Amino acid sequence: MKERLYLFDTTLRDGAQTNGVDFTLADKVAIAQMLDAFGLDYIEGGYPGANPTDTQLFSDPRKLDARFTAFGMTRRPGRSLSNDPGIAALLEAEADAICFVAKAWDYHVRVALETTPEENLASIRDSVRAAKAKGREVLVDCEHFFDGYKASADYALACARAAYEEGARWVVLCDTNGGTLPHEVEAIVGEVAKKIPGDHIGIHAHNDTEQAVANSLAAVRAGARQIQGTINGLGERCGNANLVSIIPTLKLKPEFAEKFEIGISDAKLKNLAHLSHTLDEMLNRAPDRHAPYVGVSAFATKAGIHASAIVKEPATYEHVDPETVGNRRRLLVSDQSGRSNLLAELERIGIAVEKEDPRLVRLLDEVKEREALGYAYEAADASFELLARRTLGAVPDYFNVERFDVNVEQRYNAVGKRVTVSMAVVKVKVGNETLISAAEGDGPVHALDLALRKDLGKYQQYIEGLDLTDYRVRILNAGTEAVTRVLIESQDETGERWTTVGVSSNIIDASFQALMDSIVYKLVRSGAPA
Ligand SMILES: [Zn+2]
Repeated sequence: MKERLYLFDTTLRDGAQTNGVDFTLADKVAIAQMLDAFGLDYIEGGYPGANPTDTQLFSDPRKLDARFTAFGMTRRPGRSLSNDPGIAALLEAEADAICFVAKAWDYHVRVALETTPEENLASIRDSVRAAKAKGREVLVDCEHFFDGYKASADYALACARAAYEEGARWVVLCDTNGGTLPHEVEAIVGEVAKKIPGDHIGIHAHNDTEQAVANSLAAVRAGARQIQGTINGLGERCGNANLVSIIPTLKLKPEFAEKFEIGISDAKLKNLAHLSHTLDEMLNRAPDRHAPYVGVSAFATKAGIHASAIVKEPATYEHVDPETVGNRRRLLVSDQSGRSNLLAELERIGIAVEKEDPRLVRLLDEVKEREALGYAYEAADASFELLARRTLGAVPDYFNVERFDVNVEQRYNAVGKRVTVSMAVVKVKVGNETLISAAEGDGPVHALDLALRKDLGKYQQYIEGLDLTDYRVRILNAGTEAVTRVLIESQDETGERWTTVGVSSNIIDASFQALMDSIVYKLVRSGAPA
């Protein structure tokens, strides 16, 4: 029998403290659903009563399997429960669980709370009792627990025990300033676990010495059975413990996997990379290429010698199978890459070519040249495939865009409201036929996309199911001037997705390149005749 470990996500609460992150109500609802679908046990939504977004979030109906948790402070010292509006808002919130934050360091009790150690203990007990009476599951985050324990072990323990004895389901030991090291966490949690059963102890680690993940695992080794963290390690300062690193470690490393089970199935684990990248995209952040398990580079290799070994025997160079976390092996077709990388990549996408084919050198040079200009072929498989097929002479000239014109106009509409309208006109030659299409869109790129795909004559049937699913823009500094890189993700009727890239000093031109690649890729995949 494996022991159950519980995962508590605080992306929407502690993660919302990240510099530059500002979740709207709609963001929070969407992220909660995503986390729930992934299989997390607890989702901490926020701080009802503290701001209108969180108050609204906790009053709207929702349907989640995870326990949706409200966060707030314990009763204020010197006040009664009924005279504390913070507690009232917390108890009123439509939450499955309430997580109180309580002081556990006598120094903080004295200086920050300006109260007595006894009153702080009474406040913990009263708060837990009130939430339990309301039918909520209760968690108590013991703030600065590790520093408190080092300063006064008896008092820190008394706070934890007050919570536990009053019936809190979880007593969560917090390394609030993130300064504690793994061996200290393991020793202190071990001591606490002698007084409070481990299956009631949680760990909440911050990353200020870059050991939040290690500290979380150390706590589990010492007996803790709940881990609090955030997706991608979001959180103030250096962030919280990164669940995206913790989860696969618990699932894939025998020391943990053989002993514990978590609420996330093997099948769900395959969505890990997607979950991580989706959150980044919602926040308009570039995903960390070097993120463990899920980064684009996590299973990438450049050196030619390694590449040939990896193709033969992946386990020789990889600590886990990339597919288990929804990532994949990448043999970088870029700087330093040898011929074996390129060959392996071509083989992966189904292009057969002789090892000694001189065109390989040309392709390699072309890739290097273009990457120096800002093209990102690792992120744009479909554009790489087209480039490879073109260099090897296997892409027909299906059609030719002779000219296009995009205009953006701002004016008053019929009801006197200022609107911005974009229109595109495209002149395409397909065989001997010249086709002119026009379309209006929300923006210039949207209009251009619609006009391009409106009428491709005999090829129209092949692109009917084509859809743009994502559009990302980055400004790069390549060489001396800023250029724009556009990545477009497309999808077809079969659900296949592909990404294309365009680079130019002009955003419309960069978008046009990526749109063209997407359409041509679709025609190649569909086997459209030349
Ligand atoms: Zn925290």
